Amino acid sequence: MITLEQCQLRDRQDPLASLREQFTLPAGLIYLDGNSLGPLPRSTASRVADVVSQEWGQGLIRSWNNAGWFEAPQRVGNKIARLIGAGDNEVVATDSTSVNLYKVLSAALHLARQREPGRRRIVSERSNFPTDLYIAQGLCREHGCELQLVEAEEIVGALTSDLAVLMLTHVNYRTGAMHDMAALTAAAHACGALTVWDLAHSAGAVPVDLTTAQADFAVGCGYKYLNGGPGAPAFVWVHPRHAEQFWQPLSGWWGHATPFAFTPDYTPAPGIGRYLCGTQPMIAMAALECGVDSVLVAQPLGGMAALRSKSLALTDLFIELVEQRCAGHGLTLVTPREHALRGSQVCLSRQDPARPSGDSGAYAIVRALIERGVIGDFRAGDGPRHPDILRFGFTPLYLGFADVWHAAEHLRQVLDTGEWHNPLFQQQQSVT
Ligand SMILES: *Cc1c(COP(=O)(O)O)cnc(C)c1O
Repeated sequence: MITLEQCQLRDRQDPLASLREQFTLPAGLIYLDGNSLGPLPRSTASRVADVVSQEWGQGLIRSWNNAGWFEAPQRVGNKIARLIGAGDNEVVATDSTSVNLYKVLSAALHLARQREPGRRRIVSERSNFPTDLYIAQGLCREHGCELQLVEAEEIVGALTSDLAVLMLTHVNYRTGAMHDMAALTAAAHACGALTVWDLAHSAGAVPVDLTTAQADFAVGCGYKYLNGGPGAPAFVWVHPRHAEQFWQPLSGWWGHATPFAFTPDYTPAPGIGRYLCGTQPMIAMAALECGVDSVLVAQPLGGMAALRSKSLALTDLFIELVEQRCAGHGLTLVTPREHALRGSQVCLSRQDPARPSGDSGAYAIVRALIERGVIGDFRAGDGPRHPDILRFGFTPLYLGFADVWHAAEHLRQVLDTGEWHNPLFQQQQSVT
């Protein structure tokens, strides 16, 4: 049996432990949902107050020139680039993940079909995050293409000569399973297709190397592991070999080569700059920059490689503790055990041993845990292949080994006492 004392000892020996002080987490709370909304860095509140009262209040319009506002999408993009294996001036922070996906998927479709017009298929994973699939469906209607949804093990078989784009999320939001980006990109290229990678659950969570993987396009989220705040700007990366091959479809004035020349004709900016559309939200951008900095602080301590080894240690520990302490309650590990296949979360499904075909109880168990101050979340399933999920994200920037021990112990108590049967926990709230 793993003891709390052993976990506390590991915390004392952890060289990343002090990084937690960067965040204003409520006392006593164990936050296992940084994969959905990262916590508030201490620096953010004063930085945002400064942007509002000084840069906006005093500087007014002069701040576009004097306070670094105009260059912010590129400046923050360059910081994110260091976390995802991209080069300088290859990433911009802007818009939402959904909107950026629309831009890059349009570009990828256009480039693939410019080479060979017969390519009219996009392949993605059935359990991909819905907005990715919805954006692809919208584009398919616009362009007369077809979206083919497959299970993870069917992806390679779906890479045939009529494929235009392979669009995948690197780490699956439901299961925490991670794809081999380099291998799948190479396989897609071998059949003449292009790749779009969604890094929503990867940027700031696992090491990513877009350049080595030879990927074509990528997007990612600012408010999850990058701690940018609710609705933070997202980011977009385009490989330099493609960046100037296409006008992205939202050809707004911020993506113009000379926006303040106010010419009637659109001339796209060189490089990734053309992937901007309209005026950027500076207050939100300032909060995002604080969030990205909270991850970059780990660079001198080993950066993403060090964060990754602690993340794997935390998720290994949680898996082991759940298996030791929660046996007999019908829980099954959904996240891959193999490190190379695992993101930074642990997902469990549940079948009630007393009522195998009844409600999984997953939602109510998550609600009971939240009531105890252990915040994870629930993702609904749609049958045996994709069951209901209890989802726990582990962020090494602010979680320790004792937190993991307490989280597993609370889960054991919720299951042993049956307190999750309380009718209060059965009612679904609007955001799960
Ligand atoms: C969180 C997430 C998104 C979010 O998209 P928004 O446009 O920010 O709402 C998109 N894709 C994936 C895979 C995600 O996990």
